[in-house]
Order: sequence, then structure tokens, then C-alpha cells
Amino acid sequence: MDLEKFEEFVSQYPIYEYRILSAREIQTVPRVREICRIECERYGSTWACPPGVGTVEECDKRIHSYTHGIFFSSVAEVSDLLNMEEMLTTRRAHEDLSTAMGEYMEEQGYEVFILSTESCDICRECAYKRGEPCVHPKRMHPCLESHGVVVYDIALEHGMEYQLDGNVILWFSLVLFREKGSAEKSA
Ligand code: SF4
Repeated sequence: MDLEKFEEFVSQYPIYEYRILSAREIQTVPRVREICRIECERYGSTWACPPGVGTVEECDKRIHSYTHGIFFSSVAEVSDLLNMEEMLTTRRAHEDLSTAMGEYMEEQGYEVFILSTESCDICRECAYKRGEPCVHPKRMHPCLESHGVVVYDIALEHGMEYQLDGNVILWFSLVLFREKGSAEKSA
């Protein structure tokens, strides 16, 4: 990976911090999925959430079929952090940024898989509810938690900010990547 070129790419976007991780260090924690099941109203309602994303074992295997990941945050400011609706309006910009990061890596010749924030809300009603395949598999990013990834742990481990003062939100994504064809070679 050409780091200088990557830095140049990153500098065009409001990326707050990023780290390039080895996929080996990314852990999947089954307990996170339990929290999704018990506490999240989106559980079982989109292809971006469990159980639509597959079992914990399948998610773990998917993550580790990639060699590296770009873990990054972007920043958004709202008038009131407790206003969930306003907070969620800032999410789309981060999702678009995640897509742009994935496209950049694909242009550099890598295969990518993106994990991002919350559940997917691209369609008015998710095809999951109709038992049909996802309508926009390239634009849809499952949330990090759906794959059992603990954002806080990675941020802590890598000395990244997890929370900022004031009415500022940090959104996180992980763009996993591998050399083209490497998955077939190692299978
Ligand atoms: S793109 Fe549409 S069909 Fe696919 S997960 Fe998102 S809401 Fe569901």
C-alpha cells in the first residue's frame, strides 16, 4: 500500500483519525451480538444487522479473510447530542466517506469489505423483511457491532479518541482489505 498516496487521499476528507490494523488483531466478541439482540430495536430488521449478517463464526471468518483494515473516525457537530434524530442525520456523510474509502482501496487493486455505523437505512423498507436479497449490496455497510467488533477497545488500544467534548460526534468505520485473489490462494 502506497502510504504517501493514501495520506493524500485522506487529506481530502474530514477524517479525524485513522489507523491501519492487521486483521489478526481484530477480535469478534459474541457478547456484543447478545447486546444487539436484547437492546437494539433494529435487530433482525435489516441485512446490516444480526442475524442477517450471519453467525458470529461466519462474521469472524469474513473479517479474517482480509489481511488488514483501515479503522477511522470522522467528526460531526450537532446542536444537541441527546437529539437522536439530528445525530442520525450526520451519519450519511460518514457512510459516504466509508464508501469513498472503499472505492479508493478498490482502485488501488484491493478487495474490500466495509463495516460501519448503526444499521442500514438506505431503503424505506429493508428487503430483509420480505425475505429478498439486499438491493444495494455495494452501498450497504453492516455495522461494526453486528460482527462483534468492539469499537471502544480498538480506539483505546490504538490511542484514538472515542469521545470528544461538546456536541461533537465521532463516527467509526473499518475498511477491511486484501490483495486481489489472496482469499482464493489461501483457501
Ligand atoms: S440497502 Fe436496502 S435492502 Fe440492503 S440492507 Fe440496506 S435497507 Fe436493506
